Amino acid sequence: MQDDQHTPEDWGLATLAVRAGHRRTAEQEHSEPIFPTSSFVYGSAAEAARKFGGEEPGNVYSRFTNPTVHTFERRLAALEGGERCVATASGMSAILATALALLSAGDEIVASRSLFGSTVSLFDKYLSKFGITTRYVELSNLDDWEAALSPATRLLFAETPSNPLAEVVDIAALSRIAQRHGAWLAIDNCFLTPALQQPLALGADLIIHSATKYLDGQGRAVGGAVVGSDKLLEEVYGVVRTCGPCMSPFNAWIFTKGLETLSLRMKAHCASAMELAQWLDGHPAVERVHYSGLPHHRQHDLAARQQSAFGAVLGVEVKGGRDAAWSVIDATRLLSITGNLGDAKTTITHPGTTTHGRLSAEQKAAAGIEEGLIRLAVGLEDLDDIRRDLARGLDALV
Ligand SMILES: *Cc1c(COP(=O)(O)O)cnc(C)c1O
Repeated sequence: MQDDQHTPEDWGLATLAVRAGHRRTAEQEHSEPIFPTSSFVYGSAAEAARKFGGEEPGNVYSRFTNPTVHTFERRLAALEGGERCVATASGMSAILATALALLSAGDEIVASRSLFGSTVSLFDKYLSKFGITTRYVELSNLDDWEAALSPATRLLFAETPSNPLAEVVDIAALSRIAQRHGAWLAIDNCFLTPALQQPLALGADLIIHSATKYLDGQGRAVGGAVVGSDKLLEEVYGVVRTCGPCMSPFNAWIFTKGLETLSLRMKAHCASAMELAQWLDGHPAVERVHYSGLPHHRQHDLAARQQSAFGAVLGVEVKGGRDAAWSVIDATRLLSITGNLGDAKTTITHPGTTTHGRLSAEQKAAAGIEEGLIRLAVGLEDLDDIRRDLARGLDALV
């Protein structure tokens, strides 16, 4: 008899993505069901008392637990190789819940400089109000990390690869630094997903996800997740359960179904990104392509070792500065001009005036955000169509 409660340890990633986490109900449904309910009922007053008191497991209220959300959590935990996952309302609330769960006034975070913009605002504008301070370091420079740590450092936070220059950090080496200092290492795994990079196996303590991106993969819903050990995730769960940034059952269902095609989609995203990077690298209007899949990328070897592919976000620096970059963006008819990524639809943006627009000229220069830089998040359209859409603007520059 088949036992769908059990996830065999030897299942491969694509199998886990399709099968893990679903506990079939008495209705014998094949596809994962949605439970759009805020609360749950009990057979008796005594059962209600036991469940409220936590003496008996079971659903009470959907801010605490929901079966559809649990299915998503079990599936993502299986893919990341974590003991437990807690789903959240957004990627940002995954980071907030982690910080509230693990940090107190006086604690320090050391983070890579090239972080998602709202993450920097969360750290600098809000956590700082509660006495939690953040120091920023160069993502790839382990000496820089080591030098920034103090006895108050409790959390190391990195996004690897970086956006949009595809810089990477050696996760295993960084986790050894964290361990030596008694700090936790959290990796935002949004850009690669567990299909391409599994930070827990490399020694990280926590994974942060914006499910909004590749986990859904079709731009339909906002959500997030934290994955790690039972012990740490029990703390994160406490925050989500009490403070309320929980995932809705509808969104959990979308993400669960999204995961079923994750492996396949990431392969297709990466294959197109690699071909585009190679083509752009040889285009006369292009100064430089930042993609770790290209052998001339400064960290190609580390990326090849640590990741099973190179992702689908490219930085393309065109000759002629901002005017040239804007003209290439404005010449597109197919690509979406938007800062979002992780979608079946290819997106194009000018980081210097959008995602990195808050930085001063000096900060941009230090971060390598040149005025001619364009970011592409390669989608699933026919490669020839994407290439033709870019060629229109690029060819006009030469
Ligand atoms: C989008 C994003 C986030 C935030 O996720 P939301 O779902 O938008 O809250 C965090 N980190 C990275 C790398 C992202 O791209």
